[in-house]
Amino acid sequence: MRKIINLFIGTNNKGKLKEIRSLLPKYIKIYSTKDINIKSPNENGKSFEENSIIKSKYFSKITSLPCLADDSGLEIDILNKAPGIYSARWAGKKLDFNKAIERVYRELNKKDKNWRLKKIRARFICALSISFLDKKITCVLGKVEGTISPTPKGNRGFGYDPIFIPFGKKFTFGQIAPKEKYRIDHRYKAFKKIKKFL
Ligand code: IMP
Repeated sequence: MRKIINLFIGTNNKGKLKEIRSLLPKYIKIYSTKDINIKSPNENGKSFEENSIIKSKYFSKITSLPCLADDSGLEIDILNKAPGIYSARWAGKKLDFNKAIERVYRELNKKDKNWRLKKIRARFICALSISFLDKKITCVLGKVEGTISPTPKGNRGFGYDPIFIPFGKKFTFGQIAPKEKYRIDHRYKAFKKIKKFL
């Protein structure tokens, strides 16, 4: 297969763009919504995979470049996997993640007043897809398992990072250095699977 030299990254999220950029081989020239002013499409899929493919096809058709897009979010088991594909929407129009985190705590309190004394199982999921024009080239899934922190901790990451403690660590994703987070998280795991298509 021919190597991809120019690639559009289909996200308006700076945190994700930074992380994806750090994962890609250096010879790939990256374009993003910072270079071309395009709004994100309506994410009306029913799964992370569907939403990722909606984004990669949409941006590829507009730019005529192959596009790598991700859709990701946090699943909390006792909340029936919420916020899940609605992770960004819980932060409201202004993408205020303090608000999203408050909602997580509110929903957990409703489910179980003593949740802070228990291990609340959760995972970050990332679907990564590559499309060229209207054709999906591939779509893969990566996951990182963990628990919900009783209080938000750390300000080094983005989104729900301050409340997620990966298995085997004492700290939240908001407390650990980005370099370390990038080596163990859901996006990295998905990226390892999609690498051979680049
Ligand atoms: P979307 O994929 O743009 O629809 O948004 C998913 C939302 O999930 C993002 O806005 C993030 O806040 C959250 N999310 C996804 N990955 C991460 C992560 O690595 N850390 C913290 N939050 C994340």
